[in-house]
Amino acid sequence: MTAMRPYNFSAGPAVMPDAVLAEAAAEMLDWHGSGMGVMEMSHRGKEFGAIHAQAQADLRELLAVPANFKLLFMQGGGLAENAIVPMNLSRGQTADFVVTGSWSQKSLGEARKYCSAHEAANTKGNGHTTLADPASWQLSDKPAYVHICSNETINGVEYHTLPDLKALGCEAPLVIDFSSHVASRPVDWSRVGLAFGGAQKNLGPAGLTLVVVREDLLDRALPMCPSAFNYRTVADNDSMFNTPPTYAIYMAGLVFKWLKRQGGIAAIEARNIAKAELLYDAIDHSSLYLNRVALDCRSRMNVPFYLRDETLNDVFLSGARERGLLQLKGHKSVGGMRASIYNAMPLEGVQALVDYLRDFEARWERRPRRDRLPTAIGPRAGLLLEPAHGKNPS
Ligand SMILES: *Cc1c(COP(=O)(O)O)cnc(C)c1O
Repeated sequence: MTAMRPYNFSAGPAVMPDAVLAEAAAEMLDWHGSGMGVMEMSHRGKEFGAIHAQAQADLRELLAVPANFKLLFMQGGGLAENAIVPMNLSRGQTADFVVTGSWSQKSLGEARKYCSAHEAANTKGNGHTTLADPASWQLSDKPAYVHICSNETINGVEYHTLPDLKALGCEAPLVIDFSSHVASRPVDWSRVGLAFGGAQKNLGPAGLTLVVVREDLLDRALPMCPSAFNYRTVADNDSMFNTPPTYAIYMAGLVFKWLKRQGGIAAIEARNIAKAELLYDAIDHSSLYLNRVALDCRSRMNVPFYLRDETLNDVFLSGARERGLLQLKGHKSVGGMRASIYNAMPLEGVQALVDYLRDFEARWERRPRRDRLPTAIGPRAGLLLEPAHGKNPS
């Protein structure tokens, strides 16, 4: 493997560990002497059976999933789960949604097709820069479930403690969309009924969707629910009711082994905390960059930030690319920048980004004051930092 690949801050599909990609490349034509590549194997054969079973066991161990939960490997991504969850859990009744950003908003909208979806809270009033205090949620009387997005990938808001529904006097299962921070930190399963997430942020390639569901929730599906999306059917068939995304499962399995080699979730969480602190600290101590999210709910995985002078956005991004810092452009719905720093992003990558932030800001600060905050959007802003390009090879 090349020693220095650029650092990739994509929100998803996202960076994979170099070691995992190298391993997959080495096994591409012949998996463990079988004479077959993983893509070419029957999902019912003993070779893939071993890959599948090992991936399930490793993930269960890593996430400390209790025995009364099923681990399902499905397809359709987080967006399909926005329909699959209400089809399986709502019984056509009322489900509650806590809207803290774009993804939970989408979940609420999709669920309306299958049940009566009730908005228990919405932080749009402050631009989704905080979480709503669970004590303030307007839960309905007996919701079929309560949905949250435990890490809002676009808005950069993360629950650092999962809400305790029982303490709120609510017996309903909590559903969490943990697509973008699964395996970045431990999960308190005592508070969760069901967790789902697409793999392409933190677990592996797109195509695999993880569902972790408590066994007592398996038999609630509406009759209209497609068999391939019925949790009971998927569970009883060990996630092989239909052909699973075999290669994505294999790749995720390699990521799980890599995570174990890193010391498991506790060790990776410590690293993620260090990475996030390094980046937020640089943003907060700058007069050019700004992150608007409240301190107690900032995401460790997705760090959106703005340049106070937005006319510099393009020159910032092209300078970043020149330094080997890729895919920093923010989501189109919120603009600005976003650095996604998933498990596979090393501390060195975050350090390289922080170095760039400082260098870019220093060049900006050396401009005469009247040039720092141009009011006109246009070519002048683009030229502002041009002369310094390439002078800083570090
Ligand atoms: C990416 C993402 C999704 C959507 O996943 P798809 O695989 O595109 O359906 C849903 N929820 C969250 C929190 C996400 O980050």
